Amino acid sequence: MNMSKGTLFIVSAPSGAGKTSLLKRLREEMDRLVISVSHTTRPVRPGEVDGRDYHFVSRQTFERMIAEGAFLEYARVFDHYYGTARQPVLDELERGYDVILEIDWQGARQVREKLPECRSIFILPPSREVLEQRLRRRGQDSEETIARRMRDAKAEIAHYDEYDFLVVNDDFDQALNELKSIVVADRLRLSRQREALTDLLRQLLA
Ligand code: 5GP
Repeated sequence: MNMSKGTLFIVSAPSGAGKTSLLKRLREEMDRLVISVSHTTRPVRPGEVDGRDYHFVSRQTFERMIAEGAFLEYARVFDHYYGTARQPVLDELERGYDVILEIDWQGARQVREKLPECRSIFILPPSREVLEQRLRRRGQDSEETIARRMRDAKAEIAHYDEYDFLVVNDDFDQALNELKSIVVADRLRLSRQREALTDLLRQLLA
């Protein structure tokens, strides 16, 4: 598989690290950047919109898509399937847009296998205490649920060293700036600039 014009970024984080809010702001503040909308079999949560937050599909539909080879990657996370449809991602990259995949470590491994030129970013919470506070604030969950979320978070964090970049989300604006810097630096790489600056380079070297 060939990744031509845009760059594919993988962003993983334990739930409670603030990944979704950071990526939403990143997309609002940067041009030529899209966030891939995943397919999932999990139920819709209040406030979520089909086609915007996820493509919510049945298990049958998801399994049919697996059989058809429609996924760039997919995984079972917390009892449900989650996956990234291949074609929309490749189409965006082809038209020169950077694409962000908000996926877990299992999906990240599959994408690195298929598209080794991707860049992966792991977002960490600033401390265990803050992570726990953030997991609690989500609602009136039982202690058992909180404890399970903490274990799940630790299992995700255990894969931090498979990623190219680590960003700590303590101060939101700083973490946002760091994410922007990663995207901007990637856009300035020779392989991307050479094509964009053909005319300038020709003129300067004439
Ligand atoms: P949530 O159900 O809270 O929206 O997401 C749960 C977890 O599923 C998160 O860790 C998120 O990164 C992961 N996830 C969401 N979409 C995908 C996907 O398309 N592929 C994979 N592998 N993981 C995903």
